[in-house]
Amino acid sequence: MIYLDNSATTPVDPEVLNAFVKVNENFWGNPSSLHAFGARAEQLLIQSEKQVLSLLNAKQHKVIFTSGATESNNLAIRGLCHAYKNRGRHIITTPVEHASVHETIEELEAEGFRVTYIDVKGSNADIVKQIQEAICEDTILISCMHVNNEMGMVFPIYEIGQLLKKYPKVKFHVDAVQSVGKIPVDIDKMNIDLLSLSAHKFHGLKGSGALIVNQYLSLTPEITGGHQMYGLRSGTINVAGAVALAKALRLAIEPLQTNYQHVKQLFDHTMNELRKIDGVVVNSNHEHQTPYIINFAAAPIKGETLVHALEEYDVYISAKSACSSKSATASRILLALGISDEVAQESVRVSFSNLSTMEEVDRLIKALKIVVAQLKH
Ligand code: PLP
Repeated sequence: MIYLDNSATTPVDPEVLNAFVKVNENFWGNPSSLHAFGARAEQLLIQSEKQVLSLLNAKQHKVIFTSGATESNNLAIRGLCHAYKNRGRHIITTPVEHASVHETIEELEAEGFRVTYIDVKGSNADIVKQIQEAICEDTILISCMHVNNEMGMVFPIYEIGQLLKKYPKVKFHVDAVQSVGKIPVDIDKMNIDLLSLSAHKFHGLKGSGALIVNQYLSLTPEITGGHQMYGLRSGTINVAGAVALAKALRLAIEPLQTNYQHVKQLFDHTMNELRKIDGVVVNSNHEHQTPYIINFAAAPIKGETLVHALEEYDVYISAKSACSSKSATASRILLALGISDEVAQESVRVSFSNLSTMEEVDRLIKALKIVVAQLKH
């Protein structure tokens, strides 16, 4: 199988799975229990939290282990806006956020919050400038993703973080799902207050994520009950999931530079080959581009048709992001980036992991050439 849909999910690292099984076999106590067996589970949880904070260089933050970035994004955005609604009711974001950010903000807009959507068609410098111009007395939150999941563009998180040092009232949320474990993420240097991640995007388990939050911030919890996870997420804690997440994160971050170089070679080769195929238009050409994602269109073939045709060659890519690929409309994200409705409907995404190989790229290109030639007529 040639699996090139790693932005949707990645295969689980056997070491991560093993850590999850071992904790469930040997340390399955409830970390909230008073007895020593519970305390052992609690120690593992504390250790996992410390590891996550250290790997992402977050000195004054805490970790809320969640079911994934969707939950983290909901808690970060709704939790913050509800907690600070008396300080202000203005949110700044981009039109190309993941649905879990976009729809949460739309819901807040319906509640009476005012939202500014930054135009992200221009340069990163222009994005920072627009944010600076949009900030006002009423602004309480900026939510901006680090890497876009459909196009792979990298947003200027460091620069936005530096700008926000002048506006301590404005809190900074970053959806770092597509950057963590792939490009450097430094929470302190980037001046991030809230960061969301999902373990299954870096060879961890599905249903396991985290919200890393500045410990001096208040959030209104989404799930109430037994006050676990600093009172922000009630329910018996999945300690094995936390241990596995910390392990997956370490295994992704330690070889980050080597993995990056490898994937960059795959990216360069794929781009060169794609451009040689008649009718192919590469959409991913941002000045700051992650090599982990390539978006392109093969006119006049519909993205969905291309995905299914490649399946016949055991090649797996995606049309739009996994969560929206079953809807018939063109990608909201590509449209917001100025791509025409027609090209957006023809667009597909190839996404790599550190396990992807040059041979897989060659097989993709070979299959693509055949399929494009067949489907064009
Ligand atoms: N944010 C981004 C940028 C994503 O790509 C995804 C998943 O594809 C999510 C959030 C949601 O992650 P999950 O489905 O693991 O909750």
